[in-house]
Amino acid sequence: MSSIKNNKLQLVLMWVLLTSVLLGIVALLPVSDKVDTNTAIKAAPIATTALIDEPASPLDEASTTNSMVTESAVASIAVELAKSYPKTINYVIQKGDTLGAIFEQLDLSQKSLYQILEVDLNVLALDSIKPGQMLIFTEFEGELTRLELHISLAQQIIYKRQGDSGFEFEQINVDGEWREHSYIGQIEYSFSGSAKKAGLSLFEAQFIASLLKDKINFSRDFRIGDTFKVLVSRQYIGDQLTGENRIDAVSINNRSRNISAYLYEGAYYDEAGLSIERAFVRRPVSSKYRISSSFNPKRLHPVTGLLRPHNGTDFATPIGTPIFATGDGVVSRVLNHKYAGLYIEISNGQTYRTRFLHLSKALVRKGQRVKRGQKIALSGNSGRITGPHLHYELHMRGRAVNAMTADIPIASAIDKRQQAAFKLALNNYHAAWEHVKS
Ligand SMILES: [Zn+2]
Repeated sequence: MSSIKNNKLQLVLMWVLLTSVLLGIVALLPVSDKVDTNTAIKAAPIATTALIDEPASPLDEASTTNSMVTESAVASIAVELAKSYPKTINYVIQKGDTLGAIFEQLDLSQKSLYQILEVDLNVLALDSIKPGQMLIFTEFEGELTRLELHISLAQQIIYKRQGDSGFEFEQINVDGEWREHSYIGQIEYSFSGSAKKAGLSLFEAQFIASLLKDKINFSRDFRIGDTFKVLVSRQYIGDQLTGENRIDAVSINNRSRNISAYLYEGAYYDEAGLSIERAFVRRPVSSKYRISSSFNPKRLHPVTGLLRPHNGTDFATPIGTPIFATGDGVVSRVLNHKYAGLYIEISNGQTYRTRFLHLSKALVRKGQRVKRGQKIALSGNSGRITGPHLHYELHMRGRAVNAMTADIPIASAIDKRQQAAFKLALNNYHAAWEHVKS
């Protein structure tokens, strides 16, 4: 380690020398005073940065790798110095981990945990951390200054400290590249087994079964020899799969009939352009309850001035008001959150997700299939809020949108004006089946 340190020291000395020489040269050049001063001001911080930054990285290593810090006087000075530099800890989430336990394990304060949870109320991303995802903590002088949640290669949430009053967050979605894969198969026994054999994942097979459940009975209607074709787009960053995928088109030949579904502008239609999914309704509560606070992604906290997006629509509902599912789907979360209170999340197909916060009672459980219009909960005032209300969110492809105005599938067929564009999309799908390899 000492040789590394010596090398670093030499580097720093070289920097100082080099900078001095450069400054000297500049001073000798026959230019105006103004340019001279500017160059000096610009050059000086470079030397300073070099002096501070260069020793920092080996010292940081010493402070985190405990076994290296013993017996050496140099190392103990190093530890003291390291405290005044940001320290980064990468933590891979394990099975059974909770955020509270991770904070405790890393000796991070409960105050910062609550401050993080308060801002996470706007995304509720930390409420569903999964094994294998990574948390990157940055600490400065014993205080948490930044937390990154790496959900997948394509999706990150960054919580950044803004002074004493709390954190703000930033959602990062990397577009990457979507590559289309084509799968062709034949029914040999079950659909899911045959789909798996053709190369589709279980999740994709289940998605198709759920999408076409009103058109075909997946456990009874298939006959050996029936065929199917599927187009799937999978997201890549570089050559790595991110885990995000989307079914673009499905065509099933069942005995003598054809059943198909094509994704067009976020919704699925059959060959004739009729909607396959049941549409959404706008409101999860009766129309007699007024909206008390609208969707506002730019809202600021009235006291701290921190960005606190209002990612949903609030309805002024007294405790115990019935709440209805706005679309068909599967209950993906029923959880209690310090700030969101008791809340339900429903996954409405591949594109949409809905959330209902501050409930008094949930009438559904995780994994349960729900229908549009089904009573799912009673409103309440759970979590940290000033008065009873329902906070309702609609997410489209992972992002919160205004549920009262968003372009959601409400129509039952492709609009006449869009027929030509829809036909073109169909032709492209048909061509892809012929040319794209799985
Ligand atoms: Zn709200």
